[in-house]
Amino acid sequence: MTAGRARVLVVEDEQTVRELVTLCLTKAGYEVEAVVDGQAGYEAATKRRPDLIVSDLLTPRMHGYELIQQLRATAGTRRVPVIVLSGKAYPADQRKAIEMGASAFLAKPFREVQLLAAVDRALNTPRVHFWGVRGSIATPGRDTVRYGGNTPCVTVERGRDLLILDAGTGLRPLGVALQAEANGNPLNLKMLITHTHWDHIQGFPFFVPAYVPGNKLEIHGPPSLDEPLEKVLRGQMDQEYFPVALGDMAAELEVHEVREPDFELGPFKVQSMYVNHPGVTMAYRVSIGDKVITYATDTEPYRRLVPGAEGGKDKEAAKYASRRDEMLQDLVAESDLYIADSQYSPKDYETKRGWGHTCYRDAIELAIKANVKRIALFSHDPMHDDDAIDRKLAECKDMAMAAGGDVEVIASIEGESIELYDESAIAAVAS
Ligand SMILES: [Zn+2]
Repeated sequence: MTAGRARVLVVEDEQTVRELVTLCLTKAGYEVEAVVDGQAGYEAATKRRPDLIVSDLLTPRMHGYELIQQLRATAGTRRVPVIVLSGKAYPADQRKAIEMGASAFLAKPFREVQLLAAVDRALNTPRVHFWGVRGSIATPGRDTVRYGGNTPCVTVERGRDLLILDAGTGLRPLGVALQAEANGNPLNLKMLITHTHWDHIQGFPFFVPAYVPGNKLEIHGPPSLDEPLEKVLRGQMDQEYFPVALGDMAAELEVHEVREPDFELGPFKVQSMYVNHPGVTMAYRVSIGDKVITYATDTEPYRRLVPGAEGGKDKEAAKYASRRDEMLQDLVAESDLYIADSQYSPKDYETKRGWGHTCYRDAIELAIKANVKRIALFSHDPMHDDDAIDRKLAECKDMAMAAGGDVEVIASIEGESIELYDESAIAAVAS
């Protein structure tokens, strides 16, 4: 954790368990507040926003399930992780708690080591949250309700550490959540932008934390060809387009152009490279602890574009293109999560070659070659409704399976999180 000790709220009516959990967590260095019922838990959580809640299921005044429901329905506590404790170890109860978003379910009696492992995992597991997954233009409506219509915005988080990737329209709900979670405290935020096409910056003028005095926001992105990055961001807020100017935003804003391939943003280690997309565009490999997330959206394979490269018609061209494509493969190599441009179907690509995006079959091919653990299909095409994305996912899974590797294929879904935990560590504690 970066700022002070992690604060844990314990909700437990059984005195002995409450005291044992409090003692165990205090000894381990956590700051603990303990309450005896669900209602008091909800009030304490909304007032002081803890980093984690450990709650019994059968708590008076508000049942544990209801507590989770209430926390999830409140903007400031929606994303606080919850560990459920229960004397009832029915699989159905466990399933329900996990489905409701609990990080872990501990059946009583549990050992101290199990509690500490669950707490450590809930607080320190890197998480990726998708706030916007649509390419090109926001596409709200009935046809996109399952995968989402907001344009690119992703967060990589570990405890209180947070890195924002891109400022598409998904940045707006992220800003609302962050400001509610801040509970009146100043926010210190860091953002990486891949490029300044509309769909990657249009959420910025609606980013609530940028309007709050005392907040600080660092924006990092590629240098633009004609204008400094700051001027490009400022340009979309000119009075012809928007009622508030960048300079009128009350938070402290710093805009940095990425000049070094490797740099650090707090605990996040970043590797950057230019990718094949109209204008100046970057992909980023982000490491946090021992986990790696590569964010490579808005890119097109060179071998599809360099004249003569496809099919090896021109040997020199093919060699050049494959060298460039291998650079992206190296950036993506061995990622725990590869967030991949996979906008077009093979049929789309017949007419959209040269538009700067990837056919999903090429994205899967790269994921297999780069030996990633998991690929999240990203930058869904605005013309693709939910059913089309279902079909894309199914085809990509078949392709990965046919290749015989163990790459897991998922489609990124707006509003969903992925925890990058280590299965083997959990199994070792549970046994
Ligand atoms: Zn673009």
